[in-house]
Amino acid sequence: DVETYINKTPESKNKYEIANNYMPGGETRSVCFHKPYPLTIEEARGAYLYDIDGNRYIDFLNNYTSMVHGHAHEHIAEKAQFALKKGTAYAATIPEKIQFSELLCNRVPSIKKIRFCNSGTEATMFAIRAACTFTKKTSIIKMDGAYHGTHDLAAWDSRYNTAVFPKNISQNIYVAPFNDSETIEQILSLHADDIAAILVEPVMGVAGVIPPNEGYLDKLRKLADKYQVLLIFDEVQTLRLDIGGAQEMYGVTPDLTCMAKIIGGGFPVGAFGGKKEIMNMFDPSKDGFLAHGGTFNGNKVTLSAGIATMQLLDIDKIEKMNSLSIELENKIKKTVKQSNIPVTLTRVGSMMNIHFTENKPENYAETLHSNKELIDILHIKLLNRGIFIAPRGLINLSTVMTQQNIQEAGDVFKDALQEMMPLLD
Ligand code: PMP
Repeated sequence: DVETYINKTPESKNKYEIANNYMPGGETRSVCFHKPYPLTIEEARGAYLYDIDGNRYIDFLNNYTSMVHGHAHEHIAEKAQFALKKGTAYAATIPEKIQFSELLCNRVPSIKKIRFCNSGTEATMFAIRAACTFTKKTSIIKMDGAYHGTHDLAAWDSRYNTAVFPKNISQNIYVAPFNDSETIEQILSLHADDIAAILVEPVMGVAGVIPPNEGYLDKLRKLADKYQVLLIFDEVQTLRLDIGGAQEMYGVTPDLTCMAKIIGGGFPVGAFGGKKEIMNMFDPSKDGFLAHGGTFNGNKVTLSAGIATMQLLDIDKIEKMNSLSIELENKIKKTVKQSNIPVTLTRVGSMMNIHFTENKPENYAETLHSNKELIDILHIKLLNRGIFIAPRGLINLSTVMTQQNIQEAGDVFKDALQEMMPLLD
């Protein structure tokens, strides 16, 4: 398979060799690397990526869930281009900022007031800062293996066990397994005086699309209230699941919500929002307000593309993506059933993950039982047949995908998995 990959992608190989001279690993984003080398993509249109060797791929990764309407969407591109011609960033408010804040406040149940920033990383960083300032407490609880961006407080857990962090970071974080509210209650019962917030993705995304067990999020809400800590939902990935994100889907309202990805329409973005009394701390007309900088916060191009994206993402489009996802899930499951391969799929709406495990993982540690070699083999086999997913098995759909794309992907998964069967005997 690796040989086929190399034969199909000689230009990507050349580019990788050059890139490696100037960027460690030839890239600037860890998740873009995979062995033997990542593809260099020349162009992306609709549901497709085209590499510099002219190979076409159906994009089932969509920049880790952010390109919810696929690539180079005509209407979104038009809005972004219009913004480009009006000057892209000034240190003043713009009509788009007002329009988009109103749109998101009306759309996401927990968000009564909002602030824009430039990434999901900043969104979680500011949400944590807001929670600490509001509660006057200095620690948070987060879930092991949950991805909340790259800043120190977000990153500190078992996943980053090779990094050395500034002194005392670890003292500000309590880590619990996802789907385990008992551990959280234990931590809270001992340390609530010290804890500002519980930070959680309603569905764990990067960690492997792990859904919350029945009642888990509700329990977190109740624990947060009981122990007087804030509940922060990181909806950077899950906002695509319903009009108002996972909080609407599961009927649990956090105090603060972090967003990014789809709300930027393909441009760098982040936002955080929530209860008025918390967000009003950022009001610079008040004495002792909480400062919030960011040269490109809420810039015109990002917000124009973001508004267009969110206006297009109506319930019909969400349901169409969800039903195509169920179709793909069923096709893969059918292939798996006919084989001896230990594969499980986890899926919520238009997001799913393939795991080489016997049982569905319920937290990050359980995803680590997945056979890494097998997922690497599957990934390359899929690429060789024109299906682009995350190297670690994350799959998600865009609204421009068709039944035909699902048929093609289902057939490719079948071929690839069937080829792998002898490896498992
Ligand atoms: N939170 C979650 C749940 C994410 O998936 C990501 C990005 N994958 C982030 C935060 C960080 O967002 P960004 O890459 O925009 O900093």
